[in-house]
Amino acid sequence: METAGAEDIPEDAERKGLGTPATRAGTIEKLVQKGFMERKGDKKTRYLVSTDKGNSLITVMPEQIQSASMTADWEQKLLRMEHGDYEARNFMREITDMISGLVQNYEAVKGAETLMSDHKRVGACPCCQADVLEKQKGWFCSNKECRFVLWRDNAFFKSIGKHLSSGMVEKLLSDGRIRLKDCKSQKSGKNYNATLLLSTEENGRANFHLEFENSRSGTKGGGAK
Ligand SMILES: [Zn+2]
Repeated sequence: METAGAEDIPEDAERKGLGTPATRAGTIEKLVQKGFMERKGDKKTRYLVSTDKGNSLITVMPEQIQSASMTADWEQKLLRMEHGDYEARNFMREITDMISGLVQNYEAVKGAETLMSDHKRVGACPCCQADVLEKQKGWFCSNKECRFVLWRDNAFFKSIGKHLSSGMVEKLLSDGRIRLKDCKSQKSGKNYNATLLLSTEENGRANFHLEFENSRSGTKGGGAK
């Protein structure tokens, strides 16, 4: 912060806690902990570099929030309030206006949730197009309103002698289908190849459908050669 647009920052800003040496250590530590920065160098010289995650965050963040001058501007207004020449409710209105503006432009920060989480993005939700993230129990749509999920412990895949993997999910999400070799028929114990089609219901629920090779298509469980 010390070098971040020094001319934008009022003299009193430092007194008010913007970029003081006292708060700097904590801020840097938080950035390192969250994986936005990393320490490099040897025992003699240590320096901080931003990570890919840090760079991406800056890219999706609205410019207004990135700027140190926003905080400086707030500090200045707080000071004026202290001196009685600025009204608290004006200040609050400005903040409200700014937040509503940012929420309206939410699209620009849409990717931020994915960045902030440690979960890998595997593709776009077939139901709502939001990011699908890999988690312990399966692959979940990041949109809280949407119920799309592919469970790791998946009854359908078990029934055809397969395990759902991250690579398969990626392909299913991008193509809506995958070719499966050596599926195992529960009835006859025979192996067969098939194409698996993924579809979703209106509420996001995932459905699977098999298309068999060398047979009438879609006859569930029947077309095994
Ligand atoms: Zn979704």
